[in-house]
Amino acid sequence: MEYISTRGNYRKVSSAEAISLGMVPDGGLFIPEMIPQIRLEEILEFKDSSYQELAVWIFEKYLSDFSKKEIKDSVAAAYKEESFPSKEKTPLLKINENTYILELWHGPTAAFKDMALQILPHLLLKSVKKLNIKKEIVILVATSGDTGKAALEGFKDVDGVKIIVFYPEDGVSRVQEDQMKTTTGKNTSVVSIKGNFDDCQTAVKNIFADKEFKAELEADNYQFSSANSINWGRLLPQIVYYFQAYLELLKDKKIKAGEKINITVPTGNFGNILAAYYAFKMGLPVNKFICASNDNKVLSDFLETGVYNINRDFKKTISPSMDILISSNLERFLFEMNGHDSGKINKWYQDLKTDKSFKIDEETFTKIREMFSGEFSSEAEARASIKQTYQQYNYLLDPHTAVGVDSLNKYRQQSGDQKTAVVASTANPYKFSRAVLESLKEEKLEQDEYRIIEELSSLTETEVHRGLIGLEEMENRHHHSCDINSVKSKVAKILKI
Ligand SMILES: *Cc1c(COP(=O)(O)O)cnc(C)c1O
Repeated sequence: MEYISTRGNYRKVSSAEAISLGMVPDGGLFIPEMIPQIRLEEILEFKDSSYQELAVWIFEKYLSDFSKKEIKDSVAAAYKEESFPSKEKTPLLKINENTYILELWHGPTAAFKDMALQILPHLLLKSVKKLNIKKEIVILVATSGDTGKAALEGFKDVDGVKIIVFYPEDGVSRVQEDQMKTTTGKNTSVVSIKGNFDDCQTAVKNIFADKEFKAELEADNYQFSSANSINWGRLLPQIVYYFQAYLELLKDKKIKAGEKINITVPTGNFGNILAAYYAFKMGLPVNKFICASNDNKVLSDFLETGVYNINRDFKKTISPSMDILISSNLERFLFEMNGHDSGKINKWYQDLKTDKSFKIDEETFTKIREMFSGEFSSEAEARASIKQTYQQYNYLLDPHTAVGVDSLNKYRQQSGDQKTAVVASTANPYKFSRAVLESLKEEKLEQDEYRIIEELSSLTETEVHRGLIGLEEMENRHHHSCDINSVKSKVAKILKI
């Protein structure tokens, strides 16, 4: 399997190269040249298999330059019991007759990002070795909160790697900030930026595209890579759990083999929903994808009009990991949907740069609309979704998943489509305790976030995620901060070049 650039500006590369480079050096993202096809009967054979076995099978199809042993070892190390202690790695919970919640947050940091970031370091190290790269790898991460901690946990104390995380100073919750700042490890750095997530992401992307700076680094024996979902190694692991969820529905006798389901994903950078789309293209029976947005509803507007327009105010919401205007992985999706036309991609992304918006062609738009529906939730709707779901089903949603559930309800009302739906649950509710408890109590709370966690736990008689216990007492080890124009010099300083 080889990987090509969405912008047609790079040679074909192996999966090891795609993963170690992170993104295409001249701009653009790597995607598999073709999508491996699997038959339904093959999927069904995994009905009684473990998550790990399913993962190995799917990985083998994409990582053809890896040996089976390398894949098996990576999967075993990533999804070991210590990191994912729950019986099922991604439990599927039924909340009503036709709605299932796919809990993706049982990893160490309570966010779905762990599903990919626990394995990415293993894939990356094996890639680097395979390519005989002798340089030290520098992972640059832009985070709206969850990726940062998950990446830090995945990469801390990994030999031959340094990791630097950038997050928006006022864009993350107290718990998210503490999670990052208390990270141990000799090779970790955390930097707060005076700006929003898009500023962070753009600054990091600019560094990747800065040839001079790269040359300087190489002279100092460093090579950049990315742990954001622009890296193919982040997307691939996310394909697995959509198959797993389908198998669970079959086991539950909720669906018949081959029956199509709907999938709802609370979306930010379009990575998780793109992984679901790849699962579908491989052969998973899906009827519709519901792309759920918060008040930063660039994507739901796009799915309504075919115009991607970031010329608008950035809003801070209670679902901060979806506070994104520039969804990186949309580029991959558009390339898949327009028949691999990199000419169009280049034009659209040039328009985005110059005009802050682009319009896709009618044919591509029609194709997208057949499979994708976009919905969004206002802050009040997201809060109401948390409260209602708790009252009706005794199930606690985090604000991101609440947007997913609300969007699904809206889609069902508008379309009348009541097919069995899986909602990707992207964070544990305790990660966003303030918004959750405020929603339940319908009042603004003044107390400290850690007191809120305690109150939420006693009120709902649910357990605090183990990744958040004891956080308050831990020492903050990271004190870097900078403005958006000095990200590059900050990196140079941290690397001492
Ligand atoms: C990252 C994140 C999202 C958005 O996922 P994308 O793959 O970027 O679309 C949604 N919810 C939570 C809690 C997240 O951490």
